[in-house]
Amino acid sequence: MSIPTSMDTARATQRVHILGAGPVGLVMAAMLQSMPGYAIRLYEKRPTYLRTRMVKLAPYLVADSLSAYAADEVDGDNVAAIFDAKELEAGLRARRSVDPKLVALIQEWSQGFCPLNIIEEGVSAMIAEGGPSPVERVLGSVSVDQALAMVARDDIMIDCTGCNSLLRNHLVPEQVGEANSAERNTYTLRLEYAVNVTFLYGAPYQCNQYCKYYKNRGNSKYKFIPAVDRIAQDAGVTHVFGIISISAEDFAALPPQCKGDLLREKFPAVATSMDRFIEQINEETGGQVIGDIDVVRIPLNLYHARNATNRAWHAEPAGDHVDAGEHAFSKGSVFLVGDSAIGSPYFQSISLGIECAMFLAGLLQQGIPMSDVRGQYETRIYKQWLRVYMRSKTIKHNKDIFERLDDTFGVLEKLKIY
Ligand SMILES: Cc1cc2nc3c(=O)[nH]c(=O)nc-3n(C[C@H](O)[C@H](O)[C@H](O)COP(=O)(O)OP(=O)(O)OC[C@H]3O[C@@H](n4cnc5c(N)ncnc54)[C@H](O)[C@@H]3O)c2cc1C
Repeated sequence: MSIPTSMDTARATQRVHILGAGPVGLVMAAMLQSMPGYAIRLYEKRPTYLRTRMVKLAPYLVADSLSAYAADEVDGDNVAAIFDAKELEAGLRARRSVDPKLVALIQEWSQGFCPLNIIEEGVSAMIAEGGPSPVERVLGSVSVDQALAMVARDDIMIDCTGCNSLLRNHLVPEQVGEANSAERNTYTLRLEYAVNVTFLYGAPYQCNQYCKYYKNRGNSKYKFIPAVDRIAQDAGVTHVFGIISISAEDFAALPPQCKGDLLREKFPAVATSMDRFIEQINEETGGQVIGDIDVVRIPLNLYHARNATNRAWHAEPAGDHVDAGEHAFSKGSVFLVGDSAIGSPYFQSISLGIECAMFLAGLLQQGIPMSDVRGQYETRIYKQWLRVYMRSKTIKHNKDIFERLDDTFGVLEKLKIY
């Protein structure tokens, strides 16, 4: 891609480069646009937003009190253990200063499942309306070298390029004798392999733990574990998203994606668990599946960046990394926000990414030294990582037990008591 050479900046204006205009990069841009003093450039490789997959925002994103923020059954205690009440209060206060138009959009999407491209188009339209700080959109794929070349002294670069983050492993200097550059700044834990099944259902339907259990009676090996909710814009249609845990061998044999019919034909044992669920909700509600059933095989990885900023490039030159002279990242400040920083498989990642974008915007607004911004952002992201790690491990543990509920010894093997 060709990068515009000069940025339209007044002397006191802070230059910000946001790489990636997915949901998180867009919210980041919208937040900074609503604050004076920035010249923002937003880079995106996709010319149009075509991802129609349904996503669900976590209720804590629209919580307006501490108790509502920590209401989630799995997350609530973790939040109280990791964060000080003062920190949470400050977070809620910062949210109250978010542009009401953005808040209204987030509230609307939180009503149920929402297509990803509706979120992306909604925030894009808001950015196009303009605000106190200009946002210039640049179309094209940014390379690492181009990103490095863009950073002038004191610039801010925010990497929102998603799970395969452009800059994550460049945020720390190469180590002498390093074996695997992909692990330089990334910790990954594979929790399981799974088949994700999604479809629309033409009747309202609610599901709880009892339903998950009873609808899986008769499924010995493969269990269909559903997440169901209304469609944000249409309360009469339910979106069903189910995860079926599979082995590494199943994963290798399955195509990356297919329709429900192919799953039935080639992998009947996996498909049966899905069909049992569908038959039972048909009986209960009199509704039926609308359109195709989409099936995607996916490794469920939990990961995070050990450094979510370029703080390592600002540390004093030291012994055990390769000395490459002055690096571009020692001139400005780089932040990872969204999936580029943390990814959790049991999906609340967009909410987490949006929350981190709000936090970073709040820090920048305070006008404190950039070394403090980097430090406070690292601390916050580390706490969020602890929260996500604990939540994901709890859910995985609960899933493991659920999948063996009728097998007493199987359950006992999964329990670690003292
Ligand atoms: C099947 C499935 C279901 C999911 N369901 C949910 C859910 O219910 N709730 C939830 O919270 N999350 C869900 N997620 C996760 C969610 O989609 C991601 O967390 C979210 O999209 C992350 O947003 P992001 O902006 O950080 O990254 P992305 O959405 O990945 O956006 C990154 C952007 O950067 C652009 N980009 C990348 N590299 C470059 C480059 N070099 N130059 C220029 N542009 C670049 C990309 O084109 C893209 O637009 C789901 C994911 C999957 C796979």
